[in-house]
Amino acid sequence: MTDRIVVLGGGFAGLWSAVGAARALDELGVGAGRVEVVMIERTPWHSIRVRNYEADLRDTRVALDGVLGPIGVRRVEGEVTGLDIGGRTVAYEAGGVASSMTYDRLVFALGSRLAHPPIPGLSSHAFDVDTYAAAERLNAHIAGLVQRDPTPGLSTVLVVGGGLTGIEAAAEMPAKLRAAGMASPRVILADHAVRVGSGMGTGALAVIEEALSALGIEARGGVSVAAVDAEGVTLATGERIAAATVVWCAGMQAHPLTAQFPVECDRLGRLPVEPSLRIKGLVAEFAAGDSAWFLVDGVHSSVMSCQHGRPMGRFAGHNVVCDLLGRPMLPLRIDWYTTILDLGPWGAVYTEGWDRLLVARGATAKRTKEIINRERIYPPRSGDRRQILDAAAPTVQAPPVRFE
Ligand SMILES: Cc1cc2nc3c(=O)[nH]c(=O)nc-3n(C[C@H](O)[C@H](O)[C@H](O)COP(=O)(O)OP(=O)(O)OC[C@H]3O[C@@H](n4cnc5c(N)ncnc54)[C@H](O)[C@@H]3O)c2cc1C
Repeated sequence: MTDRIVVLGGGFAGLWSAVGAARALDELGVGAGRVEVVMIERTPWHSIRVRNYEADLRDTRVALDGVLGPIGVRRVEGEVTGLDIGGRTVAYEAGGVASSMTYDRLVFALGSRLAHPPIPGLSSHAFDVDTYAAAERLNAHIAGLVQRDPTPGLSTVLVVGGGLTGIEAAAEMPAKLRAAGMASPRVILADHAVRVGSGMGTGALAVIEEALSALGIEARGGVSVAAVDAEGVTLATGERIAAATVVWCAGMQAHPLTAQFPVECDRLGRLPVEPSLRIKGLVAEFAAGDSAWFLVDGVHSSVMSCQHGRPMGRFAGHNVVCDLLGRPMLPLRIDWYTTILDLGPWGAVYTEGWDRLLVARGATAKRTKEIINRERIYPPRSGDRRQILDAAAPTVQAPPVRFE
């Protein structure tokens, strides 16, 4: 009889879970006739989601078949719609047909999504960079602005949310607008907090403020958006900001299907997992990436990031196989934390540690960011089976390279 490992999602956590499981099976000499690995993902792509703020998105998707095919992981293109934990069954829809699949071990890696608070007009009028499709839509909209009839906010982009995603999206925006033929672009980056970027620590905050100012971006703290429409936003104070483009970057939530597990999720909707990535209190279900959380170093909670999602995936994949075959699992522990924030044409900022100590800025930090975004976080694209399997070893990489 063949046992089945089902991985839900083909993002950073899901892809590496599937490859990690295939690697472990290969290492143990267990063939597909004994254990099969199946991934259910709604798109045929592994999206390098962290690059969605960039102007050119052409190279930000990797065909899943090019990675999963050579290592014998079966891909099902479908929308996961529900879970029956007691019955170890996943419900999904593929090609308009409702289907289900049983599992012996499950890795839940459906990630996160942008939170949409119930602000009037937000869902129908705001853009975002949460998914490849949304980012493409935003870039197409920017490119088409120049053909529109002039309106007061035509050249204005308002980015709401001064966290990492909002800052990265805003920093690219003046150049995107100019490339689209907008002669006098105006970019506003607004946030609830009094100072935009204050979550990044004092050293980095000064660098962010310097970069935003050099790029001509207006940072506005203490802003609360009350409504969004096609011509701009109305703030809670009643003030109007005319903007033909509103980009919503405020807050992430774990995938809503995490609510179907009989465990208590955290305030972001994430499933609590052991360092083995098994969901606390469950037997056959594991989770990784933005849908899961644990104390990565025994003290700090994992962060919704590919920095944590990729190793969580590699360990989850390894451990589901070990658990299924009665072998000891490997606990994941990550003793370092870095933040490398893109600041558009100005450069980037690189901080180390949970206190975010500034270690590099400007063009120097940007070199690191480019290596991360274009090389480090990609799966091998060679189609070479051995290379793909080796890339999923259950180890923690060294921190990203730091240039002097
Ligand atoms: C613009 C931007 C910039 C970022 N910058 C950074 C950064 O610099 N550094 C960093 O570490 N992190 C960054 N992040 C965060 C990072 O992208 C996420 O933490 C990471 O993608 C999480 O990986 P994941 O596999 O858990 O989820 P995801 O990458 O979201 O993957 C989830 C997958 O599940 C699929 N899926 C979802 N629902 C279903 C369903 N119902 N059925 C089937 N398939 C489904 C999706 O298609 C997707 O492929 C950034 C995010 C964004 C949006």
